[in-house]
Amino acid sequence: MRVGIGHDTHRLEPGHPLWIGGVEVPGDRGAVGHSDADVLLHAVTDALLGSAALGDIGQWFPDTDPQYRGVASSVFVEAARSELARRGLAVVNLDVIVFAESPKLAEFASAIREQLAGLLETDVERISFKAKTGEGVGPVGRGEAISAMAVVLVDTTGSQDQQGQQMDQTT
Ligand code: MG
Repeated sequence: MRVGIGHDTHRLEPGHPLWIGGVEVPGDRGAVGHSDADVLLHAVTDALLGSAALGDIGQWFPDTDPQYRGVASSVFVEAARSELARRGLAVVNLDVIVFAESPKLAEFASAIREQLAGLLETDVERISFKAKTGEGVGPVGRGEAISAMAVVLVDTTGSQDQQGQQMDQTT
């Protein structure tokens, strides 16, 4: 088994959409970024890449690359998941936290968990979503930023012997 951690922050400004975990959340502000600025999917991508020591989202999908301008961040998650699959690794479970002062995200939890489960090709029971405010302080609390944190556990899908060989080949 291997564990990965991911974290991301985006600036919030009026006139932008707010995508969280592949779900568009209505509100008076949205996240600014090169892609669709989905802070949660970026954190999940980094957690997946981290679990296999594959670097980070900026190395794989540079924000200077025009092909990623405005792209749905689901492509990053799917690419990372498929890189893990090539190495015989699949998600055991994912736990995430989104930090945002508003809007309240509880009503979107089910939709976000479904989206993440679909992207990771696993069961929704293996996906945990939590949301926190910034308690009115700091960039999150003042509504200037949104952040997300993700922790993923992955496991080899092959036999014990295959696991050793697969990891040897990748390291
Ligand atoms: Mg980002």
